[in-house]
Amino acid sequence: MNDTQFQLIKEQLIKLTSKDCFYKKKFEGIDVAGIQNEEDFRKLPFTWKGDLREAYPLGLMAVPEEEIVRIHSSSGTTGTPVIIPYTKQDVDDWALQFGRCYKMAGVTNRDRIHITPGYGLWTAGIGFQNGAESIGAMTIPMGPGNTDKQIRMMQDMKSTVLCATSSYALLLAEEIAKRGVGDSICLRKGIIGSERWGEKMRKRIAAELGVTLYDVYGLTEVYGPGIAISCDYECGMHYWDDFVYIEIVDPKTGEPVPDGEIGEIVITTLRKQGAPLIRYRTHDLSRKIPGECKCGSKYPRIDTILGRTDDMVKVKGVNIFPSQVDELLKSVEGASSEFQIMIDHINGKDLLTLFVEVEAGANKYAVESQLISDFKSRIGMTPIVKPVDLGDLPRSEKKSTRVFDNRY
Ligand code: ZN
Repeated sequence: MNDTQFQLIKEQLIKLTSKDCFYKKKFEGIDVAGIQNEEDFRKLPFTWKGDLREAYPLGLMAVPEEEIVRIHSSSGTTGTPVIIPYTKQDVDDWALQFGRCYKMAGVTNRDRIHITPGYGLWTAGIGFQNGAESIGAMTIPMGPGNTDKQIRMMQDMKSTVLCATSSYALLLAEEIAKRGVGDSICLRKGIIGSERWGEKMRKRIAAELGVTLYDVYGLTEVYGPGIAISCDYECGMHYWDDFVYIEIVDPKTGEPVPDGEIGEIVITTLRKQGAPLIRYRTHDLSRKIPGECKCGSKYPRIDTILGRTDDMVKVKGVNIFPSQVDELLKSVEGASSEFQIMIDHINGKDLLTLFVEVEAGANKYAVESQLISDFKSRIGMTPIVKPVDLGDLPRSEKKSTRVFDNRY
């Protein structure tokens, strides 16, 4: 935490606890004025999504209503949604941050930006839109759906930048290829938001569309997409540390992890007015990338999102999550993508067994020994590996269960 960040946080804490609002209640009994340094700050309780839900509808509002110009809401698929109020300043700050994202991706006011994420209560489309306008680019506010019209507009308007989720970008890429109209598409950049996506998918989209791709990160609770983006070197995402303070903590204990290690992203907003957040648990897994980036930007980096904390297990002191195993299997010849992890506690010890389907004709012994050594070197512990035949592991129509923890 640098001095400016500490000062901004301190001012915000004093302001928030001196008037009736969400944090006055949450921090009741805590001597906020006594916070002298980063260590003291880290003793403050976390803010959880559940806290935000309880504040529904407008309990998070931290300024008089006259100052609120807009609300956004996170998708309420699991019950009560979260409502985030924005002041004019918040809206402008968000646009400025998203503008920086476009600039990082080399987008300029000569570009034509084709925006396919949805407009409305959630923060996607409108975030891409305001950011693009802030750098003076021409926007084509399509929203999702109607692939025919998307492609037609892309051709006629000569769109140069595509904003989309990874799955929609792939669908468009495939449709363009299928119709054989690739030559009339002028795209040069793709700004891709929100989902975790693999290297294989990235390469396909980039190749089919002939574009350079950038990952943009953000969440509705903290402005929306646009608080971080990858650069040309594709080594993590730069985040705007003059607007957000990021901690990476062990999702189980809440303790900070050393720089470079994987944990949960915890965000404190530094300048937000409508609904500031202190130590907000995002459930997104990433790590801080130490050192400076080759691109020369001074903004610090986090890794691309590696998964969600709900998928993670801790074995022998090592945090393990399914996407790491996905990654691992890709480089092992003869291993398929299907696997299951079984964790047991036998004779006082945790044991991790990795069942993995191997392709027909593959050398099971070779797959086993390579997986053991790769698992050890890249994840940090030694598993028991059991290669099985293709189709031996159960299939599910829904998302397959990858991890069975039999310890508790
Ligand atoms: Zn960079």
